[in-house]
Amino acid sequence: MSFSFATSNNIQFGEGIAKTIPSLLDGSLSPLFVLTGSDSKRYAQLIGLLTQSGFEVFIHPIAGEPDVKSVTIASDSAREASAKCVIAIGGGSVLDTGKAVAALVTNEGQLIDYLEGVGKGKTLSEKSLPFMAVPTTAGTGAEVTRNSVIGVPKAGVKVSLRSASMLPTWAVVDPELTYKLPPEIAAYTGMDALIQCLEAYLSKFSNPLTDGIAREGLRLAARSIRSACKEELDTEAKSDLCAASLCGGIALANAKLGSIHGFAGPLGGMIPAPHGAICASLLISCFSANLRAFDTRDKDNPSRAKMDDVATLLTGNPQAKASYALAWFESLCNDLPLKSLGELGLEHSQIEEAARKSAKSSSMKGNPIELTKFELVEILEAAL
Ligand code: NAD
Repeated sequence: MSFSFATSNNIQFGEGIAKTIPSLLDGSLSPLFVLTGSDSKRYAQLIGLLTQSGFEVFIHPIAGEPDVKSVTIASDSAREASAKCVIAIGGGSVLDTGKAVAALVTNEGQLIDYLEGVGKGKTLSEKSLPFMAVPTTAGTGAEVTRNSVIGVPKAGVKVSLRSASMLPTWAVVDPELTYKLPPEIAAYTGMDALIQCLEAYLSKFSNPLTDGIAREGLRLAARSIRSACKEELDTEAKSDLCAASLCGGIALANAKLGSIHGFAGPLGGMIPAPHGAICASLLISCFSANLRAFDTRDKDNPSRAKMDDVATLLTGNPQAKASYALAWFESLCNDLPLKSLGELGLEHSQIEEAARKSAKSSSMKGNPIELTKFELVEILEAAL
């Protein structure tokens, strides 16, 4: 056995913990470059705490998931502001933008040169600016990962900017920030959290540390995702889902993921659908295809036994088998406001292209069993 493990330097978790952000920062980090989603006013109180503590603050709102253009504009603005520290308050899109901005301010050249698969493969040689991630969705766990997922419209893909030095300096996870998420967004982002724990647990690169974290994340997500996505506020369920999202991020950063995220990257570049919604639409067809693949050609693979354990974690039944997990996922997907891949915009004619791109994606390499081209196509057809 051999593995390495790394996460954010400082993780703060708890209801109301965001109010303590100014106390984590020292005056030498001013000016602060603060990224938010398109509605910065949502976080006016939090940003007010920073200005009241004497920090000079530049606010940069961004809309939608990051792409080469939006990240380049944001990093140029941070450079112009002579920012000493970057703070991102928002969903995974804002966190990923902030993480990339913190890296690009200190590294020369164009973003595209550093991107996996589409650029020149340059390595980020300089340390990022100090970076604080404050998630407002319970989903991506991007507050504890070392990559930033960025759309490249010309190539029709989403790929990563990745470096160990991109691990956030601080991850401040305050479940209160997720209380007002509309149910539909809570559902698809929450499904991303659950799926990240699942895929990191089953991954070919999992290790005892990531297993413990991913199992606990899966248990928390399973017990609370339904309540956390209702209109009525359930603070305990919200807190569980934030913790599950954090667990998913820590686990995936050290164990990689699998076929669901292997498809989600390329599909996110092909259809204008939210990342979590794409992942959710693939859960059942990917889980059942992996199960069939194991049972026909690799029954003794350790991840096959883990699929039975997943069923136990989801249902609480120690005798549960992987097929119970499948039934549990089907019932969950029926209960939440989710869409099929076809409803999200994928056409049948795009399946070949999506399968071809996905076979080469970074997350697909973590899938515990190699899936054939035929199986990849079959998964997409079933999810349509
Ligand atoms: P998101 O950040 O795109 O946000 C989804 C929607 O929720 C947006 O409309 C946003 O405005 C809204 N929103 C966010 N917080 C809100 C709040 N508190 N109240 C009301 N509305 C709110 O979605 P996401 O799923 O968190 O992030 C998706 C992005 O993260 C994708 O680009 C995906 O590729 C990336 N991702 C990154 C990693 C990583 O490790 N870096 C992992 C998984 C996904």
